[in-house]
Amino acid sequence: MNLDASVHEHFMRQALEQARCAAACGEVPVGAVVVKDGQVIGRGHNSPLSAQDPTAHAEVLALREAARTLGNYRLEGCTLYVTLEPCTMCSGAMLHARVDAVVYGAAEPRTGAAGSVLDVFSYPAINHQTRVLRGVLAAQCSALMAEFFQLRRQEKKAQQPHPLRDWALRNADEAFADLPAWPWQPQWRSDLPALQGLRLAVVDEGPEDAVLTWLCLHGSPGWGYGFRHLLPDLLAAGHRVVVPDLPGFGRSDQPKKDKQHSASWHLQIIAELIEALNLRRLVLVGQGDGGRLGLAAAQALPERFAGAWLIDTWPLNTQPQQRQQWFEQAARKPGWDVAGAMAGLQGLHTAVDAQGPEEARAWNAPFAQPGHRAALKAWPRLQTELAVPPAELLQQWAQAGRLWLQAPSTDHSLSAAQWQAAWLQAVPQLAAQAGVWRQTRPGAPVPAARQGGGAAAVEYFAP
Ligand SMILES: [Zn+2]
Repeated sequence: MNLDASVHEHFMRQALEQARCAAACGEVPVGAVVVKDGQVIGRGHNSPLSAQDPTAHAEVLALREAARTLGNYRLEGCTLYVTLEPCTMCSGAMLHARVDAVVYGAAEPRTGAAGSVLDVFSYPAINHQTRVLRGVLAAQCSALMAEFFQLRRQEKKAQQPHPLRDWALRNADEAFADLPAWPWQPQWRSDLPALQGLRLAVVDEGPEDAVLTWLCLHGSPGWGYGFRHLLPDLLAAGHRVVVPDLPGFGRSDQPKKDKQHSASWHLQIIAELIEALNLRRLVLVGQGDGGRLGLAAAQALPERFAGAWLIDTWPLNTQPQQRQQWFEQAARKPGWDVAGAMAGLQGLHTAVDAQGPEEARAWNAPFAQPGHRAALKAWPRLQTELAVPPAELLQQWAQAGRLWLQAPSTDHSLSAAQWQAAWLQAVPQLAAQAGVWRQTRPGAPVPAARQGGGAAAVEYFAP
């Protein structure tokens, strides 16, 4: 026992390795090794679940293997290293085996029998030989436990059903099954306070520590599907992509009443999502009014954003008449053909001919049932509540080469010149920034979203 700390840490690392094996099997991560004369002679990782054996604690398994190795049930001259303070059973087993010493990592305040709840090793009547050393690599040992339980809580949460609120509607999952170019399964969230229990669909792909995370926000009447051709390029670059469907749209729950929708409510949900996912180095990809909502989020959380790519985003609250009419028709006509209108945005004549019936199904799916159009009804009012674009932030991004403004490719509402003039009215500083204006190839409502459209963006925005 009078060994220096590095020797204890060396063997504790081997016990930690065993603990990781336990975690990999879904067991509480506790690992143990038995050491004699500088050699590991027994190993064990916690496995009561897989072994269906309440005594299959790491220490017991390590003791059994050590006894087999030595051919002796007495383990004199041995030291047992375990990542967590042993329980009464294991402490008792160590006393029976007469191990010389026990070295543990993290204390176990609820069941520990080597000093925390009780100290089995301190009774002179039953123990005259096993010494205890506490707290070797304690931080690593408890971090492994904490990580395990956190992950398990998250998994539990993910499996929990998200009950439908009585003030909301939900589309059947089958309505969205097998859509072309959309293999992504959303993560369901109802835990953001602003959602008030609504179920939000969030596609979240790519590594958490990516150099850039693209936050794709759709406008009305779209949903995440509009970004379908963009995702493969961004993911191929090793970036992360987060695509929520705003409440009332896509696969998210839909409030029954249009008064539930407001710009501040949608903004609150977006901001809470960004914080809950701890998103950083964000590039906003905003389509339509999703761009305005995203800019408001960037203004509230500027340190989390690195730039923006805004597509068909109208910057002023006073809209051109044709554009306003388009949204008002969507709001007023209960039978307004969403897929047809989306096809119109692409300069196509009929939805089905040009896009194929499957794409038309994707646009119509959220609104196919009667009563599901509260968001469309609310939208013209919501557009008047949107915040003014943050001129200073946009100028900063433009100067840093991190801003793209892309005109609509619509054939029925606006010319690119009219749209650019509106931006210069909203943010006069952009007049000096020739590099921000992106030409739009005709034929895509999210022009960025033609196949291969993301590669240029990766090149432009990547650090
Ligand atoms: Zn135990």
